[in-house]
Parts: sequence; structure tokens; C-alpha cells
Amino acid sequence: MKSPYHSLMPLPKAELHLHIEGTLEPELAFELAARNGVVLPHADTDALREAYRFADLQSFLNLYYELMAVLRTERDFADLADAYLARAAAQGVRHAEIFFDPQAHLARGVAMGTVVEGLWAALGRAEERHGVSTRLIMCFLRDESAASAMETLAAAGPYLDRITGVGLDSAEVGHPPVKFREVYEAAAALGLRRVAHAGEEGPPEYITEALDVLGVERIDHGLRCAEDPALVERLVRERVPLTLCPLSNVRLRTVDTLADHPLPALLDAGLMCTVNSDDPAYFGGYAGDNFDAVREALGLDREKLRQLARNSFLAAFLEDDEERRTRYLAEVEAYAFV
Ligand SMILES: [Zn+2]
Repeated sequence: MKSPYHSLMPLPKAELHLHIEGTLEPELAFELAARNGVVLPHADTDALREAYRFADLQSFLNLYYELMAVLRTERDFADLADAYLARAAAQGVRHAEIFFDPQAHLARGVAMGTVVEGLWAALGRAEERHGVSTRLIMCFLRDESAASAMETLAAAGPYLDRITGVGLDSAEVGHPPVKFREVYEAAAALGLRRVAHAGEEGPPEYITEALDVLGVERIDHGLRCAEDPALVERLVRERVPLTLCPLSNVRLRTVDTLADHPLPALLDAGLMCTVNSDDPAYFGGYAGDNFDAVREALGLDREKLRQLARNSFLAAFLEDDEERRTRYLAEVEAYAFV
């Protein structure tokens, strides 16, 4: 059925929750596999796209890590980021804060420098080529040890001029934020911004812990805050942004259907919500697709949609370029809904 709505692709927006490894489309996976002599256990792009219709979190993670084997060289990481930026730009993204998972690459023998310099080759020309400004955020895998996270931070030492902040991702339950207290303290001492995934599949207490123990400035996902009214009140009072990923929540069964998503209630409560794509190649859509999906499923009005776009720029790490933030916010106000 054709959507009755005008697409929100041109609405200017910032993307603040995006794993670059999760943007690997089947076509590029096969191209990189061929270039690097990696044999994928899938017949062709159609078969691989079929595999992207995974059943649960574990089958998603298995595929996600399996496909990373095709990322070997700086050029591979540059091509991956460039393909994402082109798609994001086509969906109205003006600013992208991009996560990467170095431990997943270091474990395969790919050096930190290969990853960061490769990504940077694309990010460095993103503005000129795609009209998108960028930041890079290095994530620690929370199901790995705290010592491994600390080693990863040390390995990033020579590249800190390219890295804006640190994050925490992967399987949440059983890996509370407090496990990473020391590495977040070390990151703060290096002047890095801090975010963390919390309250996606993990309990609301992980959100509180991420704020109090890790000192994070934004919560990635965070939708389970809705279970704790006092926490919601605090997040509103302290204006802590949530980087929500609606299509991801449906695919990973955090919510049953998009119509059940708590986004409208969270917005009504006064939370600074943003809408993002998480791992768009796997979860059925990029930033604009997520905006279109929530408008259709949740019936958000124009002012709410404009608020989501406005929030994305207010929550962005643009303190070193407030002029740019002001310009982006003016684009949001000037946007004419059809
Ligand atoms: Zn994520």
C-alpha cells in the first residue's frame, strides 16, 4: 500500500546512533569479499539479503560478526563509510555521529590505525562530497572485559584527534555500566565525550548507572526508562537526550510492533528524544526511513516531527561549532511539510 504521507526524507536531521559496521549492505559485502579473497557462506546477494531477515538478537549478532571478515583494509572502511554517508545524505541527514567497534576488528588482526584512518578518509571529505558533517565515536563491546576496553582506549591513543567520544554497545543484560567505570574515567580525563547504550534490553537501573557512574551525556536507546517515572522525571529535568531507534526495536523484538513504541509517550513526558537507524542494513531502514515509519505507525503530527529533528541537532556534539548548530536548527525551522 502506498503511504498516504509525504516522505520525511528531506527533513534536515542529525543521526546520533549509527554503527558503521551495521551499514554493510549485501552488495558491498560481496564486493569487498571478492576484493579481499574472502569466501562468504552465502550463494549471492539475494541469499545474503534473505539471511538479513534474522529471527532474533543472537542470529543477528552471528551474521554481523561473520560479515565483518570482509573489512580488511583502509580502503574497505572508507568505502563502507562513504556508502553510508551517501545514503544518509539522501535521507536528509546533515550531521552524523558514527559509532565503530574497534575490538571486533582488533580481534581479527585488523589494526586500530587501519580502521580509524580508513573511516577518516571518508569522513574527512563527507562535507564536500555529501554535505554531511561528522563525528566519530569509539564503542567498547560490553560483553568483552573491562581490561580489553582499557587496552582498546590505549590503542586509540595516536588517533584521539579523530575521535570525539566513547560509547558502550553489544549484548546489554549481565554487563552493567559499572563494569566500565575505570575506562570511562580514563576517557573523560582524555577529554572524550561519553555516551552508552542502556535501557534497551537491560533494566532502567542501567540508565541511572550510566549517568551516575560513567558520566554519560546521552543515553543510546533508553526506552525502558518508561518503566520508572522518577527516572523519566530526572531525564527531563537534566535534559538527557535519548537516541531511539524504532525500526531496530521492532526487528530485535524490544517492542512487538511499531504501533507499540513508547516514543509518543516519551515525547509527551518532555524527554529529548531523537530518532536514528542503529544498524540500518540489517534493521530495515536508514534515518529517513525511521522518521517515515514512526509517522505512519504512531501518527506524530508535524510539530512533533519537527521537534525530533530539532532535538537531534540540540543533542549533537557540536559545542566546538555552535554556528553550524544554529544553521542546522534554522534549516529545521524553515522546513516546509507538504
Ligand atoms: Zn546501537
